[in-house]
This record gives sequence, structure tokens and C-alpha cells, in this order.
Amino acid sequence: MNAIEIRGLRKTYAAQGNQAPKDALNGVDLDIPQGSIFGLLGPNGAGKSTLINILAGLVLKTQGQVKIWGFDQDSNPRQSRASIGVMPQELHLDPFFSPRGALEMQAGLYGVARGDRQTDTILQLIGLSDKADAHARSLSGGMRRRLLLGKALVHNPHVLVLDEPTAGVDIELRNMLWANVRKLNAQGMTIILTTHYLEEAQEMCDEIAIINHGAVVVQDTTQNLLGRL
Ligand code: ADP
Ligand code: ADP
Repeated sequence: MNAIEIRGLRKTYAAQGNQAPKDALNGVDLDIPQGSIFGLLGPNGAGKSTLINILAGLVLKTQGQVKIWGFDQDSNPRQSRASIGVMPQELHLDPFFSPRGALEMQAGLYGVARGDRQTDTILQLIGLSDKADAHARSLSGGMRRRLLLGKALVHNPHVLVLDEPTAGVDIELRNMLWANVRKLNAQGMTIILTTHYLEEAQEMCDEIAIINHGAVVVQDTTQNLLGRL
């Protein structure tokens, strides 16, 4: 089974003011294998974030079919949402929650029973055990990013999506993120990440899809793809 199956996916953002409507996705077909570390590569404006935001349920598609872990987004919205966790690009966090509070809140939103919550394990994974009860305002950029990764994991999703996880990130944090990605993947989690760095995709990903102008230009194993360059 594929972790993700996308057929004929289109997204047109509505016209705003004197701006014309924008076709961000023009019929995307994509299969993402279960258990892979999968890279979505493409230049700025290609449609990567739109695609990810549709997977996350944050943006409504205009047309097409999206299945997450076999669950159709339209006919099984609850199960498809429960199957995926997304680490967003923006560092937005509620300023009133500590890391522990933010993870508990997120677990609550996903309906994870108190007894099933892995808050301490997640705090340890993201290196924030010492800061568990600190004010969100006191967290550095790197800590915020790690907390956003933790929030994406509270419901133990089958699929983890990271949107440009290393944009503007120092080498230490990047290494920590990659170590966590590899660890989660080794435990069976399917990982999808967007990047515009080819070297990064090359280093991390088993398989890559290149997106341009809202369509998949090529999809192949990293090895085959690099052989073609
Ligand atoms: P990427 O993540 O690959 O940089 P995006 O998905 O962010 O690409 O953007 C794809 C296209 O859709 C771009 O032309 C972008 O300007 C446009 N776009 C993205 N979000 C919106 C929005 N909310 N409203 C209108 N146009 C948008
Ligand atoms: P910055 O202030 O640059 O945003 P970070 O918040 O990313 O810094 O990191 C602060 C410190 O925590 C760094 O020294 C980093 O090495 C360390 N750190 C990062 N990830 C982990 C982890 N998983 N476990 C323990 N320590 C970590």
C-alpha cells in the first residue's frame, strides 16, 4: 500500500482584489511509498506548500482525490487526518503555553486519551525536557522548531510531513532534525519533506518528486534520478 495516493489534484486560489485567480496545482498525480523518506523538490512558487497544506487539511482542494494511509480525505476525513502529522514552516506558537502545555493541548485536539499520551517521550526526543515548563516566549527559534516537530507527533501518525524543515536553520539543529527523522523512519514512520536544496534531498531521501508550475515533472528513486543528471 502507498502511504499517500494523489490523483488529478488541482488547486485554484480565488481571485483577491485586482489579483487574478491562481492555479497553484494543475493536476498532480503522486504515490508515496509506505516507509519511505520522500522528498518534494521544486523552486519557490512550484506548489509544494499548497500540496502539503492540502494533505494537512489546512487548505481545501479544488478538485481531485487524496488518500492518506488508504483513507480518502472526502469519505474518511477523520481517519485520514489522524494518519498524518505536519511540521509547518512558520514558527507560530501560542505564547501562553509551555512546551508541555502545547503538546498536551495538541494531544487533546487529536483526541489522544491521557493514558496514551507520550508527552515526556516526545519532550526527550526533541531535546526540550529541561524546558518543559518554560514560557513559550522564552524559547529560541531552534527550540520553537523542535516543539513544532513534537506537536506533529502527539497522535503518533503513520505519515510525518516536514515543510522546509531546515530553511534558515543552523547545522546543529539540522543534524538533530535529521537524526530524529531517521529514528522515526526506522520505527516505521513514512516521512515526507519539502526542500529546495537538491543536496539535502539527495542525502536524506529514498525517493524524490520534482514539482514545477503545479505539476509533478519527474518521480523516481534518488539513485535513479541522480544517475540521470
Ligand atoms: P512553494 O511552496 O513551492 O513555494 P506555494 O504552494 O507556496 O509554492 O505556491 C504556489 C503558487 O500559489 C504560487 O504562485 C503562490 O504565489 C500561489 N499562492 C500560494 N498561496 C496562495 C494564496 N493563499 N492565495 C493566492 N495565491 C497563493
Ligand atoms: P538556537 O538558539 O540556535 O535556536 P537551539 O534551540 O536550536 O539553538 O539549540 C539549543 C541547544 O540545544 C543547542 O546547543 C543544541 O545543540 C541543543 N539541542 C538541540 N537539539 C537537541 C536534542 N535533541 N537533545 C538535546 N539537545 C539538543
